[in-house]
Amino acid sequence: MNGKQFGVVLIGVVIVLATLGAASLVASPADDSIELKVVTSFYPLAYLAERIGGENVTVSTLIPYNMEVHSWYPSASDILQADMADVFIYNGAGLEPWIENEIIPIIDDNPKIILETTAEINLEEGHEDDHHDHGGLDPHTWISPFLARKQAEAIYLAFVEADGANASYYGQRWANLDSLLQEMDDRYLDRLASTQFHTIFVTHTAYNYLAERYGFEQEGVLGISANEQPSPSTIADLADRMVDEGIYTLFLDPVFSDDYIQTLKSEVEDRTLISVDVLKLYLMTGPAESMDYIEQMEANLENLVQGLGG
Ligand SMILES: [Zn+2]
Repeated sequence: MNGKQFGVVLIGVVIVLATLGAASLVASPADDSIELKVVTSFYPLAYLAERIGGENVTVSTLIPYNMEVHSWYPSASDILQADMADVFIYNGAGLEPWIENEIIPIIDDNPKIILETTAEINLEEGHEDDHHDHGGLDPHTWISPFLARKQAEAIYLAFVEADGANASYYGQRWANLDSLLQEMDDRYLDRLASTQFHTIFVTHTAYNYLAERYGFEQEGVLGISANEQPSPSTIADLADRMVDEGIYTLFLDPVFSDDYIQTLKSEVEDRTLISVDVLKLYLMTGPAESMDYIEQMEANLENLVQGLGG
């Protein structure tokens, strides 16, 4: 969609919103027992919102599960859906730049809480060789249990603000999730503390927050925004590094294409005649292989331990 087409869509959205606003003036008064309407940008935030909100919230998600998040763009109906929210939750840090550019200016008029879950997090720059054009921050916070816990806490506080009558309900559920994520962080710290290898080779360099906290490095075929093409020299350089370091493991999110990983795998195997393992490292942008967000986080730890020789 180009700017002009989007402008036309926006005018339509604004008219619909104005009509909805007028209708709500004559609708019945608010009912205290009504659930909080929560709209999230993508799956991990919806998962956390459901864990904390339980029966008091209805949660929906704009970006379909397991879509490539960086290149997604909202439609007019997505903007309408966001505007219906009591609490609108997004990742931020440049993951969904269209939220700040296209959605918030429109939905800001109607009362709601708008939560950027990474607002209080110390964000890292993306790597310089990655073509990331949204301020250069690394947005992949949710992959780390340590940072996911902070995002979840922000969601909990937003629910208490939006629905103070149920604060103790949210408080109990948050306490459970809080200890689960802290325990997960402890296990990552413990099991990755002394590994044989210290580099993971991946498709999309989305694992920097994991790498920083748990003491390894990532090297990727694709940059931080995952929507570019690798050059043959990138593949050759990565193959050099794998052979130099004696690492014969690649990591891949099975939800996404494995063409580049297969190219790199063949390159290393052709040179060394040593077979290269491909292990799963989930980006957790949707349920995958019957696993939810937390289960994928657990699977990631097992595979990291295996791949790094823990
Ligand atoms: Zn990404």
